[in-house]
Amino acid sequence: MIPIAKPYLTEDEAMAAHDAVLSGWVTQGPRVKEFEERFAARVDAPHAVAVSSCTTALHLALLVCGVKPGDEIICPSMSYVATSNSILYCGARPVFAEVEPQTYNIDIEHVRSLTNERTKAILIVHQMGMPADIDAFAALCRDRDIALVEDAACATGSRYNGHPIGSHTDLACFSFHPRKVITTGDGGMITTTRPEYEEKLRLLRQHGMSVSDRVRHEATKLIFEDHVEIGYNYRMTDIQAAVGIRQLEKLDWIVDRRRKIAAYYNDAFRDIECLRVPEEPRGRLSNYQSYSLYLRQSAPLTRNELMARLLTKGITTRRGIMTSHRETAYRQLFGHISLPVSEDLSDRSILLPLYPGLTDEEVACVTAAVRDEVAS
Ligand SMILES: *Cc1c(COP(=O)(O)O)cnc(C)c1O
Repeated sequence: MIPIAKPYLTEDEAMAAHDAVLSGWVTQGPRVKEFEERFAARVDAPHAVAVSSCTTALHLALLVCGVKPGDEIICPSMSYVATSNSILYCGARPVFAEVEPQTYNIDIEHVRSLTNERTKAILIVHQMGMPADIDAFAALCRDRDIALVEDAACATGSRYNGHPIGSHTDLACFSFHPRKVITTGDGGMITTTRPEYEEKLRLLRQHGMSVSDRVRHEATKLIFEDHVEIGYNYRMTDIQAAVGIRQLEKLDWIVDRRRKIAAYYNDAFRDIECLRVPEEPRGRLSNYQSYSLYLRQSAPLTRNELMARLLTKGITTRRGIMTSHRETAYRQLFGHISLPVSEDLSDRSILLPLYPGLTDEEVACVTAAVRDEVAS
C-alpha cells in the first residue's frame, strides 16, 4: 500500500523529544524560544511566535489585527475548515470568495467585488503550498485600509518573488500538523513584522499573563504576574519545539524532494488531455504540500471511480480540497451559498501520494496506474 502522506521523522526527532522530557522542562520554555528564533531566521521574518496549532495561530492573528463581532473577513471556502472557523471564533463573519482554477488560490477580482465598509480583513490561503499573489492582495488591502492575514498552514518553505513565505506581510500563520511539510505532532507559528503584534500575541497565547513562565523561572528577585487581558492557553510545549528544531534542519531537503516528485508527476500527466496539472505562476515556488490533479469533463471515468480503481492497486488518494460552505455546520449558519468554481475544483480533483520517503519506483507506479486509467 502507498499512503497519501507520511511525515519524515527519524531518530533525530525521537532523541530531541527524549532530551526535552528528561530536561524537566516540558511546556513552553527554552526550546520553544529557540524554535521561534530559528524559524524566524529561516523564513526571513523579524518575529515568530509559536502556538499550539495553525488554527489557534489564525484565531490570534485575527484578534491582533482588531477583528471584532460584526466584522466581515473575506476568505476562500475551498480550504480546510479551520480557515473560516478561526473567523467565527472572533464572532466575525466569513465571506467566501472563489478561487482560481490554475492555482486553487483565492480570486482577487471576486475578493474586490466582495469588499465593503464592514470588511475588516482578507485571509488568503497558500493552498497546498502554492503561494497566493501576496503583492496584489497587499495592494488591495492598503488601498481599502483593511488587514491582510496569510493562512500559510501548508506553505512552510514555499517562496514568493524570491523570498520565503513568512517574510512578506504583517501576519502569516503556519501549521506543523503531520499532514504538513514539517511537523511537531501538532503545532503552529505566527510570523510578524510588527513588534506590537509580537507582544500582543505572546500575551494572548498564555492567558493574558504579563510575565512568561520562562522569565519568572529565571528571575533572581520576586516577580508577581498580572493577567492584563482575557487570553487563551495556546502554548506549544518544549517537547514539540524540540522536534520542530530538528525538522526545520531538514526543511530544504524535504521541499527539494517534494518538488522533484511533483515535477515527475507533471511530466507524466501534462500531455494527457483530460487532466490538468498544477502550475506555478511566475515568481512563485510551491513546496507541494499536496499534489492535486484535476479531471476534466472529457475524462473516461469520474474522480471517485479513479480513486476506487487506484485503491485496488494499493494506491491511497484523497478527494480535492474541501469547501466549507457545503459542510453541515456552515449550511446551518448561512444557508445555501453557490460557489461554482470552488465546487467544481473540489469535486473533480484528486490528491496523489506525495511525501519525501516516496521512492522513485513508487512514483513510477502511481503515474503508470493513473495513466492506465485515464489515457485508455
Ligand atoms: C491544516 C490547515 C489548517 C489547520 O492547521 P492545524 O495546525 O491543524 O490547526 C488551516 N488552514 C489550512 C489551509 C490548512 O491546510
